[in-house]
Amino acid sequence: MSTLQPVRGTHDLLPEESRAHRRVEATAASVAARYGFGEIITPIFEFTEVFARTLGDTSDVVTKEMYTFTDRSGDSLTLRPEGTAGVARAFISNGLAQSLPLKLFYRGPMFRHERPQKGRLRQFHQVGVELLGVETPLADVEVIALAARLLDALGLGGQVTLELNSLGDAASRAAYREALTAYLSRYRADLSEDSRLRLERNPLRVLDSKDEGDRRIVADAPPIAASLTPEAAGFFADVTGGLDELGIPFVVNPRLVRGLDYYSHTAFEFTTTALGAQGTVLAGGRYDELIAQMGGPRTPGIGWAAGVERLAMLTGAAPAPARPVAVVPMGDPLAALAVAEKLRRAGIVAEMGFSGNLKKRMARAVKLNARYAVILGEDEAARGAVTLRDLDDNSQQEVALAGLVSHLAALLDGERAG
Ligand code: ATP
Ligand code: MG
Repeated sequence: MSTLQPVRGTHDLLPEESRAHRRVEATAASVAARYGFGEIITPIFEFTEVFARTLGDTSDVVTKEMYTFTDRSGDSLTLRPEGTAGVARAFISNGLAQSLPLKLFYRGPMFRHERPQKGRLRQFHQVGVELLGVETPLADVEVIALAARLLDALGLGGQVTLELNSLGDAASRAAYREALTAYLSRYRADLSEDSRLRLERNPLRVLDSKDEGDRRIVADAPPIAASLTPEAAGFFADVTGGLDELGIPFVVNPRLVRGLDYYSHTAFEFTTTALGAQGTVLAGGRYDELIAQMGGPRTPGIGWAAGVERLAMLTGAAPAPARPVAVVPMGDPLAALAVAEKLRRAGIVAEMGFSGNLKKRMARAVKLNARYAVILGEDEAARGAVTLRDLDDNSQQEVALAGLVSHLAALLDGERAG
């Protein structure tokens, strides 16, 4: 451990990266707002129980990935590994059952102790939505449409595939559990050690295994579709029919299960081949029993979460910020600082170099990609004027200091318009 390095799996976002990151978040917030979702900000840590009880004690997140610690009061707390459990907890603690349906958007850091790789971090960020209180498959369609529109808005529509499956209702899953157990038991000896344990405790989990050998066995496992009750099959048909109606393409992936225990009926993922092994950019599903399981009133829910880092890797750099105006003092630097301040108060991005001769300061202005330089020479100052240099064509003119702000504002406006 070197304490001057960031903790493994965490990283600093320098301005260019944070711009790409914030653009993903802001786009998600604005697309979600178009669908009537308001933002909820929940704490970054919760009592460990909030996650342990809901995510399932056989899920990878709970068995291996949680950052859990005992605080000074002796409480067991966990840095949130995902957003839904905290939102469900907030729903119960705030007595929001009176305000259904409820549409909530969230964004922020999540923490999982995983093996760091490209696109897999220990502190990463998600944006997500939860729609609570709507039982009909139309809710699934709407929430998936919101995800599709977000990916479109980020320019990723052509790069992702929507994969869809149904986990059915409790009766469907009980039937499937039997069929799957019968199948997997024949290959018990070839399964990974983790999956042999999963087979005992929660065989569906085996379908989500990342082990190569497990995946080969799973490839021929019976699909859950054969075990769906007529009601669950009808629900799924309504979801796929709704997506068809809205023109949202998808493929049914009969082996898609989600990594957490609380899902029922619809499960979906948007995947890409552009990120190597970490190809899932957005994932979600229906969780009708979660809130009741936590001790709240039974409230159906559906939602998804997307990995901001993975999306930002796909979108690449965000547009550069506005080009600045460089203020270059030749005489009194304080007078120059006052000019820069005047520009900034008028909404113009202004930069001021703090040292060096004219040549050095001009070089710095060019390096900052400044559009104009305002040069405050002593001779011009005596006349109440400055030199304004166009750094794209290197033309220059003298401008009265009193009119500088409006002159520059007009030039910059003209550029934006043109
Ligand atoms: P994976 O199968 O990749 O481990 P998951 O099923 O654990 O994903 P979810 O819990 O569904 O992931 O989280 C939703 C999204 O959050 C993922 O699709 C991914 O984009 C992102 N995500 C999850 N874990 C990480 C991580 N450790 N680092 C970066 N992004 C992540
Ligand atoms: Mg995972």
